[in-house]
Formats: sequence, C-alpha cells, structure tokens
Amino acid sequence: TEERLRKAETLNVVGEMAAGVAHEIRNPLTSLKGFIQLLQNESKAHEAYYSIILNEVDRIEYIIKEFLLLAKTDRQHIEKSSLVVTLKETVSLLQTQAILKNIELEVEIEDNIPDIDCDPFQIKQVFINLIKNGIEATDEGGTIFIKAFRTEKNQVHFCFTDNGSGMPNQVLDRIGKPFYTTKEEGTGLGLMVSYKIIENHKGTVRVSSEVGKGTTFEVILPI
Ligand code: ADP
Ligand code: MG
Repeated sequence: TEERLRKAETLNVVGEMAAGVAHEIRNPLTSLKGFIQLLQNESKAHEAYYSIILNEVDRIEYIIKEFLLLAKTDRQHIEKSSLVVTLKETVSLLQTQAILKNIELEVEIEDNIPDIDCDPFQIKQVFINLIKNGIEATDEGGTIFIKAFRTEKNQVHFCFTDNGSGMPNQVLDRIGKPFYTTKEEGTGLGLMVSYKIIENHKGTVRVSSEVGKGTTFEVILPI
C-alpha cells in the first residue's frame, strides 16, 4: 500500500486566471449554443453535424463550470454546519449514478460528529468529486464505503474507499495537478479543486491506493 500525506498545492494564480477566462468564454458559448439549436430546429439537414457541435459545446461548458468552481474556492461562506447532513445529501445526490452502475454506496456515520465551522457548499463539492471518482474507478457490482468519525485530536475524518482500479505510483504522483486525468472524458480538475478547498479549511487529504485493489481518500478537518 502506497500512502502519502497530501498538502494541497497553492494554485492562486491558476485560480484567478480560471475566473477571468471562464467568465469571458461563458457568454459567447451560450450564444453559440442558442444559434446552433435554432439552426437545428429550422432544418433537418446536417442533423448529425449539429448534434456533434452541441455535444462539443456541452463539453466546453462542463470544463468551464469546473474551472469556475475552482475560482470560487477563494470566497468562503463559513458557517457552523453539520457535515453529516452534507454527506447524506451528497450520497442521495449520487445514488442514481451508483445504481446505474450497480454500485453500492455503504455509509457508516458515527453519531459523535459535531457541527463545524466551514463552507458546506464547498465541502459538498469535495464529497461529490471523491464519490464520483470512486464510482468511475469501480466496476459494476463494486462498493464505495463511506465513513465519518471523530478522533481524540479534535478532528473529523471522512473516508471514501472504493474497491476499484487503484492507482500506480506514477498516477498517484500526478493527481491533483491541473488537467491531469487518465479518463477519456475527464477534466483533471476535480481533485485540484478538492485539494484547494480542503487546504482553505486547514484540513488534509490523504490517499492510499493499490492497483487492482482500490483506493481510499481521507479528508481530515479540524473541529
Ligand atoms: P477526472 O476525474 O476528471 O479525471 P480528477 O482530478 O477528479 O479528474 O482525478 C484525476 C485522476 O485521478 C483521475 O483521472 C484518475 O486517474 C485518478 N483517480 C482519482 N480518484 C480515483 C479513484 N478513486 N480510483 C482510481 N483513480 C482515481
Ligand atoms: Mg473526477
């Protein structure tokens, strides 16, 4: 088992550029999409081309959306929140995606977890990213184990363990870097955003992974 402590990289420059560029791209993209849909409705000719164009535009929109999330990580709205509620919400949100792949989300939450000062919207983004990655790495019939507990050290731990593909060292070394992805349809932004959010919360992300066995991402937050 390969285990390492992860300290999120400081990505302020990337974050600021992301915000600027993403905003600028968004408007022309929306207009582009509108006109393609208009053309599509006007004639049946070139239908296949239009739908390819729309798919590609959707893809750009998706990347921009992830980019904007990154930019937003610097604006925290801290409030005393129940991350147990946040975790449960996230699990129900991703339940359909899991069921489609016949993957079970097994949740175990200890009942001694206090509310903590954090931005629950941002933490939810982290939970979504980690569970989605787990689902994507796991074959049909697999399980994602989700655990939440408190330690003596006044920390809350959230563990996401899948029995999926696992990662070799050369992948482990690069995850969380901008645009690093091994997926055909990936953006390589999810972990970068997640690390940044946890870093802003003075927390840590630990990863352990074994090829063919699976992966655990552990988010540790101070109370
Ligand atoms: P994306 O999901 O768009 O590829 P991420 O930043 O979320 O971007 O993840 C980066 C890469 O980290 C993934 O492409 C994958 O190779 C690896 N990865 C992340 N989570 C897991 C996991 N649970 N199991 C195996 N590989 C993972
Ligand atoms: Mg991802």
